[in-house]
Amino acid sequence: MTNNNIYFIANWKMYGNLNSLNSVKKVIELSKKKKFKNTNIIYCPPYTLLNDFSKLTKKTRVKVGAQNCHEFEFSGPFTGSVSPHMIASLGVKYIIIGHSENRSIGENNSTINKKIISSIKQKLKIIFCFGETLKQKKRNETNHVLKKQISEGLKNIKKIDNILFAYEPVWSIGTGVVPKISDLQIQMRILKKFISKKFKSKNPVLLYGGSVNQKNAILFKQINEIKGFLVGGASQNSNKFIDIIKKTII
Ligand code: PEP
Repeated sequence: MTNNNIYFIANWKMYGNLNSLNSVKKVIELSKKKKFKNTNIIYCPPYTLLNDFSKLTKKTRVKVGAQNCHEFEFSGPFTGSVSPHMIASLGVKYIIIGHSENRSIGENNSTINKKIISSIKQKLKIIFCFGETLKQKKRNETNHVLKKQISEGLKNIKKIDNILFAYEPVWSIGTGVVPKISDLQIQMRILKKFISKKFKSKNPVLLYGGSVNQKNAILFKQINEIKGFLVGGASQNSNKFIDIIKKTII
Protein backbone atom coordinates (compact mmCIF):
# COMPACT_ATOMS: atom_id res chain seq x y z
CA MET A 1 0.00 0.00 0.00
CA THR A 2 1.36 3.42 -0.90
CA ASN A 3 0.11 6.63 0.71
CA ASN A 4 -1.71 7.72 -2.44
CA ASN A 5 -5.44 7.53 -2.93
CA ILE A 6 -6.09 5.32 0.06
CA TYR A 7 -9.69 4.86 1.21
CA PHE A 8 -10.98 4.90 4.77
CA ILE A 9 -14.67 4.15 4.79
CA ALA A 10 -16.68 4.40 7.99
CA ASN A 11 -19.69 2.11 8.09
CA TRP A 12 -21.80 3.28 11.00
CA LYS A 13 -24.40 0.52 10.49
CA MET A 14 -27.53 1.19 12.63
CA TYR A 15 -25.71 3.46 15.09
CA GLY A 16 -25.47 7.19 15.60
CA ASN A 17 -27.72 10.19 16.10
CA LEU A 18 -27.47 13.94 15.59
CA ASN A 19 -25.14 14.25 18.58
CA SER A 20 -22.66 11.88 16.96
CA LEU A 21 -22.02 14.43 14.23
CA ASN A 22 -19.92 16.54 16.58
CA SER A 23 -17.26 13.87 16.83
CA VAL A 24 -16.89 13.81 13.04
CA LYS A 25 -15.60 17.40 13.07
CA LYS A 26 -12.24 16.08 14.35
CA VAL A 27 -11.95 13.86 11.29
CA ILE A 28 -12.84 16.75 8.99
CA GLU A 29 -10.04 18.78 10.61
CA LEU A 30 -7.61 15.93 10.06
CA SER A 31 -8.59 15.68 6.40
CA LYS A 32 -7.55 19.32 5.88
CA LYS A 33 -3.91 18.54 6.69
CA LYS A 34 -1.59 18.46 3.69
CA LYS A 35 -0.44 14.97 4.57
CA PHE A 36 -3.94 13.61 3.97
CA LYS A 37 -4.68 15.46 0.76
CA ASN A 38 -4.61 12.22 -1.23
CA THR A 39 -6.62 10.27 1.33
CA ASN A 40 -10.27 9.45 0.70
CA ILE A 41 -12.36 9.56 3.87
CA ILE A 42 -15.97 8.50 3.44
CA TYR A 43 -18.69 8.34 6.10
CA CYS A 44 -21.62 6.00 5.64
CA PRO A 45 -24.12 6.85 8.38
CA PRO A 46 -27.72 5.57 8.59
CA TYR A 47 -30.24 7.15 6.17
CA THR A 48 -31.54 9.40 8.96
CA LEU A 49 -28.22 11.25 9.13
CA LEU A 50 -27.32 11.45 5.44
CA ASN A 51 -28.62 14.97 4.96
CA ASP A 52 -26.88 16.31 8.06
CA PHE A 53 -23.64 14.60 7.10
CA SER A 54 -23.93 16.02 3.62
CA LYS A 55 -24.29 19.55 4.98
CA LEU A 56 -21.52 19.10 7.54
CA THR A 57 -19.01 17.82 5.00
CA LYS A 58 -19.94 20.18 2.15
CA LYS A 59 -16.81 21.87 0.77
CA THR A 60 -14.59 19.56 2.82
CA ARG A 61 -12.56 16.58 1.61
CA VAL A 62 -14.73 14.14 3.55
CA LYS A 63 -17.42 12.44 1.45
CA VAL A 64 -20.67 10.73 2.38
CA GLY A 65 -22.10 7.36 1.42
CA ALA A 66 -25.34 5.49 2.05
CA GLN A 67 -25.41 1.93 3.40
CA ASN A 68 -27.92 0.43 0.99
CA CYS A 69 -30.81 1.37 -1.32
CA HIS A 70 -33.85 -0.04 -3.10
CA GLU A 71 -33.24 -1.64 -6.48
CA PHE A 72 -35.57 0.87 -8.22
CA GLU A 73 -33.76 3.98 -9.31
CA PHE A 74 -36.43 6.61 -8.61
CA SER A 75 -39.62 6.01 -6.59
CA GLY A 76 -42.45 3.54 -6.09
CA PRO A 77 -44.78 1.88 -3.59
CA PHE A 78 -42.01 0.40 -1.42
CA THR A 79 -42.67 1.21 2.22
CA GLY A 80 -39.54 1.83 4.23
CA SER A 81 -37.26 1.93 1.20
CA VAL A 82 -34.98 4.63 -0.18
CA SER A 83 -33.97 4.91 -3.83
CA PRO A 84 -30.56 5.76 -5.34
CA HIS A 85 -32.08 8.95 -6.77
CA MET A 86 -33.23 10.08 -3.32
CA ILE A 87 -29.78 9.38 -1.93
CA ALA A 88 -27.93 11.16 -4.74
CA SER A 89 -30.21 14.19 -4.43
CA LEU A 90 -28.74 14.84 -0.96
CA GLY A 91 -25.25 15.30 -2.35
CA VAL A 92 -24.23 11.79 -1.29
CA LYS A 93 -21.47 10.39 -3.52
CA TYR A 94 -21.03 6.75 -2.44
CA ILE A 95 -23.14 3.76 -1.58
CA ILE A 96 -22.38 0.44 0.11
CA ILE A 97 -24.05 -2.46 -1.71
CA GLY A 98 -23.85 -6.17 -0.94
CA HIS A 99 -22.88 -5.93 2.72
CA SER A 100 -23.02 -9.34 4.37
CA GLU A 101 -25.41 -8.06 7.02
CA ASN A 102 -27.90 -7.46 4.20
CA ARG A 103 -27.01 -10.63 2.33
CA SER A 104 -27.72 -12.56 5.55
CA ILE A 105 -31.31 -11.28 5.59
CA GLY A 106 -32.09 -12.28 2.04
CA GLU A 107 -30.32 -9.92 -0.35
CA ASN A 108 -29.03 -12.04 -3.23
CA ASN A 109 -26.59 -11.45 -6.10
CA SER A 110 -29.39 -10.61 -8.52
CA THR A 111 -30.90 -7.92 -6.26
CA ILE A 112 -27.42 -6.58 -5.57
CA ASN A 113 -26.82 -6.34 -9.32
CA LYS A 114 -30.05 -4.34 -9.81
CA LYS A 115 -29.15 -2.00 -6.96
CA ILE A 116 -25.69 -1.42 -8.40
CA ILE A 117 -27.03 -0.69 -11.90
CA SER A 118 -29.60 1.80 -10.54
CA SER A 119 -26.98 3.46 -8.36
CA ILE A 120 -24.49 3.80 -11.21
CA LYS A 121 -27.22 5.53 -13.25
CA GLN A 122 -27.45 8.03 -10.39
CA LYS A 123 -23.67 8.53 -10.58
CA LEU A 124 -23.09 7.07 -7.13
CA LYS A 125 -19.74 5.36 -6.56
CA ILE A 126 -20.24 1.80 -5.44
CA ILE A 127 -18.61 0.23 -2.40
CA PHE A 128 -19.29 -3.34 -3.47
CA CYS A 129 -19.00 -5.82 -0.59
CA PHE A 130 -18.47 -9.54 -0.91
CA GLY A 131 -17.02 -12.29 1.26
CA GLU A 132 -17.28 -15.88 2.32
CA THR A 133 -18.86 -17.25 5.51
CA LEU A 134 -16.91 -19.39 7.96
CA LYS A 135 -18.74 -22.48 6.75
CA GLN A 136 -17.76 -21.75 3.14
CA LYS A 137 -14.16 -21.09 4.18
CA LYS A 138 -13.98 -24.40 6.07
CA ARG A 139 -15.30 -26.21 3.00
CA ASN A 140 -12.62 -24.57 0.84
CA GLU A 141 -15.25 -22.77 -1.18
CA THR A 142 -13.89 -19.25 -0.73
CA ASN A 143 -12.68 -18.59 -4.27
CA HIS A 144 -15.74 -20.10 -5.86
CA VAL A 145 -18.04 -18.01 -3.63
CA LEU A 146 -16.14 -14.76 -4.19
CA LYS A 147 -15.99 -15.18 -7.95
CA LYS A 148 -19.71 -15.95 -8.09
CA GLN A 149 -20.60 -12.94 -5.94
CA ILE A 150 -18.48 -10.68 -8.14
CA SER A 151 -19.64 -12.12 -11.48
CA GLU A 152 -23.35 -12.13 -10.61
CA GLY A 153 -23.30 -8.91 -8.59
CA LEU A 154 -21.63 -7.07 -11.48
CA LYS A 155 -23.47 -8.79 -14.33
CA ASN A 156 -23.76 -6.56 -17.43
CA ILE A 157 -21.38 -4.03 -15.94
CA LYS A 158 -18.46 -3.28 -18.21
CA LYS A 159 -16.68 -0.35 -16.57
CA ILE A 160 -15.49 -0.53 -12.99
CA ASP A 161 -13.95 2.93 -12.67
CA ASN A 162 -16.57 3.87 -10.09
CA ILE A 163 -16.60 0.61 -8.20
CA LEU A 164 -14.56 -0.12 -5.07
CA PHE A 165 -14.21 -3.83 -4.33
CA ALA A 166 -14.49 -4.46 -0.59
CA TYR A 167 -13.44 -7.95 0.38
CA GLU A 168 -15.04 -8.64 3.75
CA PRO A 169 -14.77 -12.19 5.08
CA VAL A 170 -18.06 -12.62 6.94
CA TRP A 171 -16.31 -14.44 9.80
CA SER A 172 -14.19 -11.37 10.42
CA ILE A 173 -16.93 -8.73 10.54
CA GLY A 174 -17.51 -7.57 14.10
CA THR A 175 -15.72 -10.58 15.58
CA GLY A 176 -12.22 -9.29 16.25
CA VAL A 177 -10.91 -12.23 14.22
CA VAL A 178 -8.82 -11.26 11.18
CA PRO A 179 -7.13 -13.30 8.44
CA LYS A 180 -3.44 -14.12 8.71
CA ILE A 181 -1.44 -11.56 6.73
CA SER A 182 0.00 -14.26 4.46
CA ASP A 183 -3.48 -15.68 3.75
CA LEU A 184 -4.94 -12.25 3.08
CA GLN A 185 -2.09 -11.39 0.76
CA ILE A 186 -2.74 -14.51 -1.30
CA GLN A 187 -6.49 -13.83 -1.33
CA MET A 188 -6.03 -10.24 -2.45
CA ARG A 189 -3.72 -11.32 -5.25
CA ILE A 190 -6.26 -13.86 -6.47
CA LEU A 191 -9.00 -11.23 -6.36
CA LYS A 192 -6.93 -8.63 -8.16
CA LYS A 193 -6.02 -11.07 -10.92
CA PHE A 194 -9.63 -12.21 -11.35
CA ILE A 195 -11.13 -8.70 -11.35
CA SER A 196 -8.41 -7.24 -13.61
CA LYS A 197 -8.92 -9.97 -16.18
CA LYS A 198 -12.70 -9.98 -16.04
CA PHE A 199 -13.08 -6.21 -16.40
CA LYS A 200 -9.92 -5.50 -18.38
CA SER A 201 -8.78 -3.12 -15.68
CA LYS A 202 -5.14 -2.68 -14.69
CA ASN A 203 -5.76 -1.32 -11.23
CA PRO A 204 -9.08 -2.23 -9.65
CA VAL A 205 -9.49 -0.64 -6.23
CA LEU A 206 -9.48 -3.40 -3.61
CA LEU A 207 -10.36 -2.72 0.01
CA TYR A 208 -10.32 -4.93 3.05
CA GLY A 209 -13.01 -4.94 5.73
CA GLY A 210 -13.38 -7.00 8.90
CA SER A 211 -12.40 -5.98 12.45
CA VAL A 212 -9.90 -3.37 11.26
CA ASN A 213 -8.31 -1.47 14.13
CA GLN A 214 -5.26 0.75 14.60
CA LYS A 215 -3.05 -2.27 15.37
CA ASN A 216 -3.90 -4.58 12.51
CA ALA A 217 -4.16 -1.71 9.96
CA ILE A 218 -0.36 -1.35 10.23
CA LEU A 219 0.03 -5.00 9.29
CA PHE A 220 -2.56 -4.95 6.50
CA LYS A 221 -0.94 -1.92 4.88
CA GLN A 222 2.01 -4.16 3.96
CA ILE A 223 -0.24 -5.79 1.38
CA ASN A 224 0.22 -3.90 -1.88
CA GLU A 225 -3.12 -4.93 -3.33
CA ILE A 226 -5.07 -3.29 -0.47
CA LYS A 227 -6.01 0.30 -1.25
CA GLY A 228 -7.94 1.01 1.93
CA PHE A 229 -10.29 -0.20 4.60
CA LEU A 230 -14.00 -0.50 5.27
CA VAL A 231 -14.26 0.04 9.00
CA GLY A 232 -17.36 -0.80 11.02
CA GLY A 233 -17.12 -0.83 14.83
CA ALA A 234 -13.92 1.21 15.15
CA SER A 235 -15.25 4.00 12.91
CA GLN A 236 -17.98 4.94 15.37
CA ASN A 237 -15.33 6.36 17.67
CA SER A 238 -13.57 9.27 15.95
CA ASN A 239 -10.37 8.84 17.95
CA LYS A 240 -10.08 5.20 16.92
CA PHE A 241 -10.89 6.03 13.31
CA ILE A 242 -8.30 8.82 13.29
CA ASP A 243 -5.77 6.43 14.78
CA ILE A 244 -6.36 3.96 11.96
CA ILE A 245 -5.90 6.72 9.37
CA LYS A 246 -2.75 8.09 11.02
CA LYS A 247 -1.15 4.68 11.48
CA THR A 248 -1.80 3.79 7.86
CA ILE A 249 -0.72 7.03 6.20
CA ILE A 250 2.82 7.66 7.41
C1 PEP B 1 -18.31 -3.68 8.30
O1 PEP B 1 -19.36 -3.38 8.86
O2 PEP B 1 -18.22 -3.64 7.07
C2 PEP B 1 -17.18 -4.10 9.12
C3 PEP B 1 -16.06 -4.44 8.53
O3 PEP B 1 -17.36 -4.12 10.46
P1 PEP B 1 -16.23 -4.31 11.59
O4 PEP B 1 -15.11 -3.36 11.26
O5 PEP B 1 -16.92 -3.94 12.87
O6 PEP B 1 -15.79 -5.72 11.55
